[in-house]
Order: sequence, then C-alpha cells, then structure tokens
Amino acid sequence: MLTEPRQPRVSIVAPCYNEVDGLLAFHGRVAAAARSVCADDYEIVLVDDGSRDGTWSVIAELGARDPQVVGVKLARNHGHQLAATAGLALARGQRVMLIDADLQDPPELLAPMMRVMDEGAEVVYGLRTRRDGETFVKKATAAAFYRLLGRLSGTPIPRDTGDFRLMSRRVVDILTAMPERQRFIRGMVSWIGGNQVPFPYERQARHAGTTHYPLRKMIAFALDAITSFSTTPLRLASWLGVAAAGLGVLLLAYTVWRWASGDTVAGWSSIMAVVALFGAVQLIVLGILGEYVGRLYQEVKARPLYLIDTVLAGRSAHIVPAGFSRLSPETRRDLWDRIQESPDLVTPSAGAIVQ
Ligand code: UDP
Ligand code: MG
Repeated sequence: MLTEPRQPRVSIVAPCYNEVDGLLAFHGRVAAAARSVCADDYEIVLVDDGSRDGTWSVIAELGARDPQVVGVKLARNHGHQLAATAGLALARGQRVMLIDADLQDPPELLAPMMRVMDEGAEVVYGLRTRRDGETFVKKATAAAFYRLLGRLSGTPIPRDTGDFRLMSRRVVDILTAMPERQRFIRGMVSWIGGNQVPFPYERQARHAGTTHYPLRKMIAFALDAITSFSTTPLRLASWLGVAAAGLGVLLLAYTVWRWASGDTVAGWSSIMAVVALFGAVQLIVLGILGEYVGRLYQEVKARPLYLIDTVLAGRSAHIVPAGFSRLSPETRRDLWDRIQESPDLVTPSAGAIVQ
C-alpha cells in the first residue's frame, strides 16, 4: 500500500536570485513564523533562479540542516515570475504563501493572513500601504503603470500589490495549470476570481543586496503585463488611422481651397511634415503589432516554462523531468510524490548539490 502523500498545511515559496547575504535571516524568520502557525506541518520551497553568487550553497546547507526546506535549483536564470511558478508547481501545501526572499514582505504576516483565509478567503494578497527603501522613480513608475494597466485591462487588477500573497490549493492548481509563458502572476490570480481579500501592510526596505529589477527589466515586465492582459493597444492602430484620415481630409480641403483661390504654391516643408507624421504613425503601429506577434511566437513554440536542475528534499537530491512544467497539477503531484518515495530514481552527487 502506498502511504498517503504528505500534504503540509502551508508551503512558503520564495524565488531567490543572488540573495546570498539575506537568505539565512530570511529562512530564520520564515521558519519561526511558520512554526508559530502550524508547528512542523509546513515546507519552505526556496527556488534558486540561476544565481551567480553562493545562493545555492546556502540553500543546500539549509536543506541539509532543516527537513522542512525544499531547495529547487533552476538550470539557469528564468526570471522572477517563472522561478515563482516553478516553486508553486512543486509546493504541496494545502495553502501556499508566495513571498520575496529579500524580506521586503514580512513573513510574520503568515499568521494573520491564515486567519483571514480561515474566514473563507481563497486569496489574501498584500496591499502595500508604504514602500520603504525604494527610489522615487520606482514608486512613480509603479504608480503610473498600475493606473495604465487598470485602464487597459479587462480584468480588474488591484493597484499597489506585488506577488506577496497566500493562496488556496485550488487557486494554486489553476494558476500552475495556465500554460502561458508571459506570466504576470498577480494579474493571473485576479483573473481566477473568487473571494480575494486585500491585506494592507508596509513594505520594508531590502534586508540585503540590491533590487534585481533595473529599469530595463521593469519595462519588459510592464510590457508583458499589458500585452497579456489587454489587446487595447492593437486597437490604437485603428484610432490612429481614423485620426490620420481626419487630418488628411482637412489637409485636402485646405489644398482645394488654396487652389480655388488661385494660390498654388506647393510647400515643401508641409509635405515633409506630413510624410514624417505618417511614417511615425506607421512605425508605432508596426511596433505594437510586433510586440504581440513576438509573444505569440514565444507561446506557440511551447517550450518548457523552466528547467529544473535538481530538487533537494528530505536530505536527498532528486532529478525532475524536463517536461515537468507542462504536466497537469495532478500528474505533477503524483510524479513528485513518487520521485520522493523512491530514492533509486535519484542520482545525487555532491557536485549536483553544491556548486
Ligand atoms: N528574483 C528572481 N529572479 C530574477 C530576479 C529576481 O528569482 O531574475 C527574485 C529575487 O531574489 C526576490 C524577488 O524575485 O526574491 C523580487 O526581486 P527584487 O527584490 O529584485 O525586486 P523588487 O522587490 O525590487 O521589485
Ligand atoms: Mg525586493
């Protein structure tokens, strides 16, 4: 007889990219917060998103020391959203908390968030009332982005939230079953609907290290969010076309009027201005089309969302098949349980565990 697979009461999932300096402190606070809520009935899933510092060594050390830790080593850097998705796919808890590893989101909020869930919420999401230690530019661009996204998106996406949230098993299963590559997790969770409750909190300054979201990545993230939640920008082409047509008619009327009044001096500058204007409009529209076509191309290729190099759990290293990200939540869970139960499938080597 198979034993009933272990399903902890809560999984805490944290994507980690070059977080070597803060990780021990993070683990300490998360473990204390989880223990106060459900004794030993929890797991901490730390996903190393292809870090270049010693993050994986620290995770491996924590995994060897603490049986509650599941260490996931991605094959390379896949980015915050995909690293989080990999962690969510491996999490087995009845509830799952997604949290950043830099202690900007206080792990101690697990207890009050669990209480809100006990009252019937399916998702309890952190609502940032203050953001310490972030630059004016970051705050201003974030505010402008959420306003724009709110106007463009058909799905209402709450403002001033990050991915810090507690979710039910049902929501996590739906979320990880969504196949898309351009993942904007906070929007996708909103899309799932159900009883989602905001939880106001003050976002702290980073415990150690610096942000991994420079302006370039923030713009890419914003573009992913807008293109995956709205096709309104495509419609912009039609509006620009209508506006340009209106302008053209006015211009034509003006030309006819000048011709009728016998004054037919052809202005070189006005022609150049019109050519430049229309050229610009066409390039903008082409660019918008390109953003969507490029993403369509990425999705159609349907490559795995992420590649998992090794998973450390229960003090041994496990290999997970490449197609893991494409399995249904049920198959994935079965497979993961089986992998953990049969250490023969496992080929641990010290080199695979510690970089
Ligand atoms: N992160 C990641 N992969 C990346 C970039 C970031 O897993 O390519 C993790 C990072 O370790 C942190 C979380 O995602 O736990 C949020 O990143 P960060 O703190 O740099 O973003 P910010 O809070 O400044 O928006
Ligand atoms: Mg951060």
